[in-house]
Amino acid sequence: METDLMEKILSLAKRRGFVFPGSEIYGGLQNAWDFGPLGVELKRNIKAAWWNRFIHRRSDMTGIDASILMNTKVWEASGHLKNFSDPLVECEKCHKRFRFDEVIKDLEQFDRYKDDPEGLKEFYSRERCPLCGANFSFPRQFNLMLKTHLGATEDKASEVYFRPETAQGIFVNFKNILDTKRMDLPFGVGQIGKAFRNEITPGNFIFRTREFEQMEIEYFIPVPKSDGDWNKYFEMWRKEMIDWTASLGVDVEKEINELEVPKEELAHYSKRTIDFEYHFPFGAKELYGLAYRTDFDLKNHGERSGVNLKYKDPETGEEFYPHVIEPTFGVERSVLAAMCSAYAEEQAPSAGSEEKTETRVVMRFPKWLAPVKVAVLPLSKKEELSSVARPLAEELRRDFIVDYDETQSIGKRYRRQDEIGTPYCVTIDFDSLNDHQATVRDRDTMKQERVAISEIKSYLLEQFKK
Ligand code: ATP
Repeated sequence: METDLMEKILSLAKRRGFVFPGSEIYGGLQNAWDFGPLGVELKRNIKAAWWNRFIHRRSDMTGIDASILMNTKVWEASGHLKNFSDPLVECEKCHKRFRFDEVIKDLEQFDRYKDDPEGLKEFYSRERCPLCGANFSFPRQFNLMLKTHLGATEDKASEVYFRPETAQGIFVNFKNILDTKRMDLPFGVGQIGKAFRNEITPGNFIFRTREFEQMEIEYFIPVPKSDGDWNKYFEMWRKEMIDWTASLGVDVEKEINELEVPKEELAHYSKRTIDFEYHFPFGAKELYGLAYRTDFDLKNHGERSGVNLKYKDPETGEEFYPHVIEPTFGVERSVLAAMCSAYAEEQAPSAGSEEKTETRVVMRFPKWLAPVKVAVLPLSKKEELSSVARPLAEELRRDFIVDYDETQSIGKRYRRQDEIGTPYCVTIDFDSLNDHQATVRDRDTMKQERVAISEIKSYLLEQFKK
C-alpha cells in the first residue's frame, strides 16, 4: 500500500510535469532528476516562503549566496576532507557497492566485534550481498565530496571540491558580514543553494540524490555558560522547524518523528542533533536536521586562516568565537514530503455522469504552495466564450499563476486541476454572456459559487489570504 503511494506519486510527477528523469532522452543519468513546469513552481514557492519567513521577517537574520566551489582549505578546516565519509562495503562477486549501515543488519554484533579482527572476519563471513548473496569486502571509508579541476591543467594543484553543504559559505564570510551589517548576538545567517555529495546509494526518487539544494541557517549565540544557554536557542529553532514543516501541509503529529541522534552517531562537529524524520512511503527518514555545532567551525577557520573571526562584544569589548545552532532543510525532501502529504484519493461524482462516482486524485497542497493557483476554463472553445475567458485569464495572470484550458469535458478538466492541486477553477459558460458571472469551484469542497466576473480577482485575492 505504501510503496503503492510512491509509485503513484512518481507517475503523477512524470505525467503532470513535476519531476522528470534527468537526461532522459539519452537513457538518463543515475538518480538525476529535472524539475518540470510544475515542479519548478513548487520548489520556488518553498524557497521563497522559507526566505521570507526566516530572513525577511526576522530582525535577527540576514542572508548570503556564496559560491559552490570553494578553496580546498575550507574543507581541511571544516573536517570534511578527513571525516565526511560513509563506510562502504563492496560485494566480492557482483562488485556492487553499498553503504555499510544500510546492508549490515546486525549492527549490534558489529559493535561487539569492532576491535577484534578475528571476530570481525567471522562477522563478515555471515553477512551477505542482498543482490547476489556473496560476501562483502571489509568496509572502507568513502569520502562523499565530489571533485573537479579548475583551469586548464588536471593535476593535484587544480583540484577543487563541490561544496557538500552550504554552511561553510556562511562561516568563511562571518567577518565580511560583521563588517558590513550591524548584527548583535544572537543573530543568524541563512543561505539557499546547491550542494553535492557522491552518495554511495542514492535513491528513493528525489529523496537522496548527488546534487540537491539546501536551505541552511547558522544561528550565532554568545559562548554558553551552561547547557541551558544554548539549549534555549536550540528549542526555539526546534519549534520554528516544526511550524515550518506544518506550513507545508504536513501533519506533524502523525507524520514527523523527532529523533535525538545518539552521542556516538553525532557528526564530528556536533554536540546535539535532532533529525526530523518524515514518514515517507519507504520508511521514516530524515527530512531536516537541527544541530548544535559549538564554535567548531568559526574557531577552526579563524585559527587556520589567521583572520580574526571573533565577535567583539559592543559593551564589554571582549572578543570570542560565537557558538552556533544550525537548522538545515533539504529543498527536494521538502518537495517530496509536501507531495506525499498532499496526495489524496476520494470518491467524487463521475466526470462523465453525475449519477456515478469515480475516484478523484487530489493534491491538497496548502494554497500558497500550489504550483498553479487558478484555472480559467471556458465551457467550450467557442469564440463567444474565449473572448470573455481570455481577457479574464490575462487579468488574473498579474497576481496568480494561471492555467488556461479549453479542451475536453469540464468534469475531466476539473479532475486534471485537482490532480495538480489547483485551489480554484473559474468556468465561463453561456450564462456568463448574459449575467456576467462565472462559476468558481473550490478544489477541496468541490463547492461551486457564482461570482461577478468583474469581482473574480478580488474574490480570489481574498480566498488566498485565508
Ligand atoms: P542522510 O542521513 O539522509 O544522509 P545527512 O544527515 O547526511 O542526511 P545533513 O548533512 O544533515 O544530512 O544535510 C542537511 C539536509 O540536506 C538533510 O536534512 C536533507 O534534507 C538534505 N540532504 C542531505 N543529503 C541529501 C541528498 N543526498 N539528497 C537530497 N537531500 C539531501
